[in-house]
Amino acid sequence: MTCTTGCKTQDHASYAECLKAKAVKTFLASPSKGLDGTTQKRWDAELNAYCNARQEGIQPDGTTMAKVTQAVKASDKFGKAYGRDFNAASPMPEGV
Ligand SMILES: [Zn+2]
Repeated sequence: MTCTTGCKTQDHASYAECLKAKAVKTFLASPSKGLDGTTQKRWDAELNAYCNARQEGIQPDGTTMAKVTQAVKASDKFGKAYGRDFNAASPMPEGV
């Protein structure tokens, strides 16, 4: 069971892949709002990643892509939600 909760297909290779698929869908569903959307798009992507992570129970140390990516990668590695099931202070969750 590597997929996130609520995943319809349940066929992703990893937790991170599943989150990424969700993020892409969210991004495509949101029409671009500005002409020069580079900054906005990057911000949207970070916010989407953060929101998706939070929906899975992951609680990143911050809203930046680096923090979110770090949290998602850690969650993917352990198959548990970073920040909820474990965190940087206790990197080895029980039962792993
Ligand atoms: Zn999935």
